[in-house]
Amino acid sequence: MSDFADLAFVNGVVYTVDAGRSRARAVAVRGGRIAAVGEDADVRELIGPATEVIDLEGRMLLPGFQDAHVHPVSGGLDMARCDLYELRTAESYLRAIREYADAHPQREWVLGGGWSMDAFPGGTPRAEPLDAILPDRPVFLPNRDGHSAWVNAAALAIAGVTRDTPDPADGRIERDDAGGPSGTLHEGAMALVGLKTPAPTPDEMFEGLREGQEHLHSLGITAWQDAIVDPGSYENNLGAYLRAGDEEVLTARVVGALWWDRHRGLEQIDELVELRATAGVGRFAPTSVKIMLDGVCENFTAAVLDPYLDADGETTTNRGISFVEPALLNEAVTRLDALAFQVHFHSLADRAVREALDAIEAALRANGPKDLRHHLAHIQVVHPDDVPRFRELRAVANAQPLWAAHEEQMDELTIPFLGEPRWRWQYPFASLVRAGVTLAMGSDWAVSSANPLEEIHVAVNRVLPPGSEAGDVEHDAFLPDERLDLATSIAAFTIGSAYVNHLDHVTGSIEPGKLADLVVVDRDLFASPSNEIALATVELTMVEGERVFAGAAFS
Ligand SMILES: [Zn+2]
Repeated sequence: MSDFADLAFVNGVVYTVDAGRSRARAVAVRGGRIAAVGEDADVRELIGPATEVIDLEGRMLLPGFQDAHVHPVSGGLDMARCDLYELRTAESYLRAIREYADAHPQREWVLGGGWSMDAFPGGTPRAEPLDAILPDRPVFLPNRDGHSAWVNAAALAIAGVTRDTPDPADGRIERDDAGGPSGTLHEGAMALVGLKTPAPTPDEMFEGLREGQEHLHSLGITAWQDAIVDPGSYENNLGAYLRAGDEEVLTARVVGALWWDRHRGLEQIDELVELRATAGVGRFAPTSVKIMLDGVCENFTAAVLDPYLDADGETTTNRGISFVEPALLNEAVTRLDALAFQVHFHSLADRAVREALDAIEAALRANGPKDLRHHLAHIQVVHPDDVPRFRELRAVANAQPLWAAHEEQMDELTIPFLGEPRWRWQYPFASLVRAGVTLAMGSDWAVSSANPLEEIHVAVNRVLPPGSEAGDVEHDAFLPDERLDLATSIAAFTIGSAYVNHLDHVTGSIEPGKLADLVVVDRDLFASPSNEIALATVELTMVEGERVFAGAAFS
């Protein structure tokens, strides 16, 4: 290796995200690692005849973004199916579904998804409009958060779901006045139809991963934690990762969170140990376990400490669903912790958050402190008493900031049913930071946009990015005391998520010796108005100094 750099960035705004949050103008890269960080003069001596020099012309250079909770394979797969994510209204969904069905006559099922609950009265679409355009072909379309599915009569018939079908313990069939299924299935009830759909082939899954990876790289993401890696499901994404690792096409660094099957018990732990030992390849390491504790607020399946209110503001008896019984949860987390697994919780509402923290506490008491970095994703409703417990238990808050804004789903389907004062406990990111909690961030794509700049925009402003709602509605900031500053938000999406992935010693900041996982953004975010963060674009993404995405300015 020569002493000269392979690559040098000069004349830029380098935001290093090192411990001092220092800035620089230039960076040199040698052998895939950062060789120097400083002023242009500091890297000039490393520029030799073969060094590629990139004049940033005032653009911003950051550590590559890391997404702490994302579903890239199903996201990529959906991009190739009936993709409703970019649309907002019932009419546009039906048009897209018909066009997709016409364009793919050989596909027996219409699969895909990404509709938004706020496009339908009560958040629950009905089968009839689907039946009108597709009377014979079954349709199964999960919504954008993946917690409810829109189905037609043909799909219900194949699954044998009728008025006599009881709700499963972990889900609910939306019904008409006569008790028959009306076209929406929630949570565990989705499986009644979902398990009848044809599994994607291994080739389709592999292509889904490649598509998802390309999409994430184009947004500046160089590493992520896949929030569900499930070798046993009808969507075996583990196989896709193993093949990508074998064929050396996995350019991202990926920690896989192995799915905890909530219908089984502790006996599955042996299989998880076995998978961890045999399934790591290339940049993929399945070292986390995902335990899904509850659902979502909009369909009242998120686990709340006090019951939901009804539409009139009266209290109900419904406290949501705990998918894993707390005693079993404590034992499972204690054992996983003893086996050096990280636990990645889906804990959305305050009871699920408390149960996750209780389980981490049980593990800590049994096993003593370990450096596993258990993390709680979603954290939509956090009881104020539990905010300081994150730090005490060294649990990481894994935030999906894009959801922390006023929009129809929040204002009509969530706030009235949480009521006062509980709706104000939502997404308490600044409170967590003030309490000294480590913050990571993720998108939950394909549930919502994978673009970190949009998520950082909402973290800073608590208002959706311009153009993301039909008709450009003007909203007030959502619980503005919980806004984060830009530096904290960027840190969460870089070094914070790197910490969760146990990659912070080699990535997450721009410092000599670390891997050159880097992103170039078209402007200095600190010099731009905060309400324009989401308008910034990623122009170049690198992993170990190799280009994995180049926009027009660099191609
Ligand atoms: Zn998720």
